[in-house]
Amino acid sequence: MRRFFAAALCAVLACGLTACSQGGEQSADFYAMDTTMNVTAYGAGAKSAVDETVAEVNRLDSLLSRTRIDSVISQLNAGTANRAVGMEVWDLLSAAEKYSAATNGAFDITIAPVVSAWGFTTDHYQVPDQSELDELLTHVGSAHIHLGEESIVTLDNDTQIDLGGIAKGYASDCVEAILAKDGVESAKVALGGNIYVRGSKPDGSAWRVGVQDPENSDGFVGILSLTDAFAVTSGGYQRYFEQGGKRYHHIIDPATGYPAENGLTSVTVVAPGNEEETTGEPGHGTMCDAFSTALFVMGEEKAVAFWRSGVYSFQMVLVTQDGRVLVTDGLKDKFEQEDGSGYAYETISRSPS
Ligand code: AMP
Ligand code: MG
Repeated sequence: MRRFFAAALCAVLACGLTACSQGGEQSADFYAMDTTMNVTAYGAGAKSAVDETVAEVNRLDSLLSRTRIDSVISQLNAGTANRAVGMEVWDLLSAAEKYSAATNGAFDITIAPVVSAWGFTTDHYQVPDQSELDELLTHVGSAHIHLGEESIVTLDNDTQIDLGGIAKGYASDCVEAILAKDGVESAKVALGGNIYVRGSKPDGSAWRVGVQDPENSDGFVGILSLTDAFAVTSGGYQRYFEQGGKRYHHIIDPATGYPAENGLTSVTVVAPGNEEETTGEPGHGTMCDAFSTALFVMGEEKAVAFWRSGVYSFQMVLVTQDGRVLVTDGLKDKFEQEDGSGYAYETISRSPS
C-alpha cells in the first residue's frame, strides 16, 4: 500500500512544478490557498481543463483570501459600511451561514479574529490571554453577518470573516464544473486536503484516496476507493504550533476560542460529485469542507448524531485520539483498512447498535 503511494508521489514529482503531459495525461502541481495542489486529467479536453483549473483556483484565492489585502474578503473585513461583494461571494457566504446553522455554530467563518489571535494568519504563534479571547468571542457568530439584497454584505463592528475552512471545498466545486465543461471524464484533483475525483481512473478502476494517519505523516489509516466523489479531511495535525510542551492546532472551537479538543484527530467527509449540469455554485465540495471542519470541532458523539440525523447526505471516517477509526456504513465497500496501523476499526450504522 505504501509502495503505491510512494510511486504515485514520484509520478507527481517527476512532473515538477509545472504542467506535464504523458500518454493523454495532463497534470499540474501548483501552490495556492496556502497549500500545495495537483490536478491530473485525462482525455481530449484535459489540457485546457488543467490550465483553466490552475487559473480558476488562483482567481478564487485572490477573491477569497483574507491575507491578500486586495481581496473582496479583506475589503469586507476592513470596512464597516455596506458592501456589494458580487453574487459569487454572496452565495458562498450564504452557504457558510447555512452550514453554521446546521452545525449549531461549530462551523463559523466569523471565527477570524480568534484564528488571528492565535497567530495562524501571520505565523507569529502565541497562546492568547483569556480576557482577549473573551472579548473577541463577543464578535463571533453568524448573527454578526448581514446578507442583504443585491449582493450587499454588512459585518458588525469588529466582526471579520475567514473562509479558510470552506474556500478549498468551494474551489473543488468550481473545478468540477470546469472539468465537466471541457468534457473530461477522468481526473483527480487535490487542493490540499480537499480531494475531488471525476469518473474512474483511465483503466476503469476506482481512484484510491489515502486517509492519512494523524499520528504518522508517512502512514494511512486506510484507503478509500472512490469514483465521482469529494473527500475532504480536517485534522489538528495539518497545522499547529507547540508551546510549553503542548500542541495548539488551527481548528478553533467557537464555543471556547481554543483549538478544538473533543477527542478526534481527524475527520474525513465524503459525498458524491454534483449533478452533471453543475455551474460551480457551492455544492457537495463546499459541504464536505464545512462539515469536516465542523465535525472535528463537534467530537465523536455529536458528529455521529449529526450523521445519523440524515439531514445532509454524506459519509465519514473519524479517527479518535484513543486509537479508533470509525467508518460510516455507506463506505463499507469503499474503505480498505490499513494492516498493521495499530488502530481498532468500527463501522457506524444509521441506528445505534
Ligand atoms: P479546515 O482545514 O477546512 O478544517 O479549515 C481550517 C481553517 O478554517 C483554519 O485554518 C481557519 O482558517 C478556519 N477555521 C478554524 N476554525 C474554524 C471554525 N470553527 N469554523 C470555520 N472555520 C474555521
Ligand atoms: Mg473545512
